[in-house]
Amino acid sequence: MAHVEGLRCRECGHLYETAAIYTCEWCFGPLEVVYDYDAIRAAVTREKIAKGPDTIWRYSDLLPVEGDTAVDLGAGYTPLVRADRLAEALGLGEVWVKNDTLNPTNSFKDRVVAVALSKALELGFKTAACASTGNLANSVAAHAARAGLKSYVFVPSDLEAGKIVTTSVYGGNVVAVDGNYDDVNRLCAELAGMYPWAFVNVNMRPFYAEGSKTLAFETAEQLGWQAPDHVVVPMASGSLLTKIDKGFRELYKVGLLDEEPNVRVSGAQAEGCSPIAKAFIDESDTIKPVKPSTIAKSLAIGNPADGYFALDVVRRTGGGMSAVSDDEVVAGIQTLARTEGIFAETAGGVTIATLAKLARDGVVKPDERVVVYITGHGLKTLDAVQDVARPTATIPPTLDAFQAAFTIEEN
Ligand SMILES: [Zn+2]
Repeated sequence: MAHVEGLRCRECGHLYETAAIYTCEWCFGPLEVVYDYDAIRAAVTREKIAKGPDTIWRYSDLLPVEGDTAVDLGAGYTPLVRADRLAEALGLGEVWVKNDTLNPTNSFKDRVVAVALSKALELGFKTAACASTGNLANSVAAHAARAGLKSYVFVPSDLEAGKIVTTSVYGGNVVAVDGNYDDVNRLCAELAGMYPWAFVNVNMRPFYAEGSKTLAFETAEQLGWQAPDHVVVPMASGSLLTKIDKGFRELYKVGLLDEEPNVRVSGAQAEGCSPIAKAFIDESDTIKPVKPSTIAKSLAIGNPADGYFALDVVRRTGGGMSAVSDDEVVAGIQTLARTEGIFAETAGGVTIATLAKLARDGVVKPDERVVVYITGHGLKTLDAVQDVARPTATIPPTLDAFQAAFTIEEN
């Protein structure tokens, strides 16, 4: 049971009734879900959550879906892994990896899509749609199939081939657009005004974005209902980072955390698309849109919708931001795989490389309990590592050839 009062403009505070709308008609500011926190506080307990499903729906009291339309492919409640070998490699103390590669379509997008399509069913939509850099396309296509909705997903035509296959297989419509993500997004904003479709990241965006809070909810629950000291989050639109911050604060507001959390939030971007990190590093209040050029395509949003909100969160919490090169991204993927056995997509490489940089710069400290968010699986971006992840040796099928290639020490 949700406890939604309506929607509110994040800029001017104007209130709206719950509907598939996303911008304020007074000031064009983005809309956000408004909850009755007293009602939530009265309804939730740690015990009730523990008895819920091992998915994001264990937190349904804190999500904006009313009624029984939850679309459940098993999104969420992914492992939070203590990463001592990674911590040692980076000169840090206590590091945890939130492994969201293990979602149903192998990225954190399953969290936001599950919430958006559940709300779409509740509001009576028959067709789901999205603009995507790839992971969202996978997730919308899969969840639409599960929910019995038609789907149209729009992606840049230069997307990794694997992400096209892992979307098309679900049988919806996949539209490859000759342009970058920002072009695709503009087209979808126009289409959303013409067709009665639930565009998860356009007219459903206020509900969709709330799904990201579950990453904070799970982190706190998995740490024994404690907030970490510092989190490192990849940034595309910047929405994920702001919602993780919001999630921790909500847990305190509804009585699920005993102490007011004081989580430092840091953001990660790739140099080839780092408008938010650049504004932070330059101490500027202006985010200048860029034309993306990076192997981290799932983060390649040149004009980030929530960039200013992300800047505010990082400045308010005393976190940091950094941008890393494509070579550092590949090294980040390798570091995580070789220390912890977790294979991340390029966005994860961005996040690990940024964590390494922030640790070197003293922003992330050895005495902090750090959580790093790994948001997508490495099988999605094999191209990025194919040149560095090769056979150790290629030999004829003979003992001599093996022994010529390797010197095996006695155990
Ligand atoms: Zn407004």
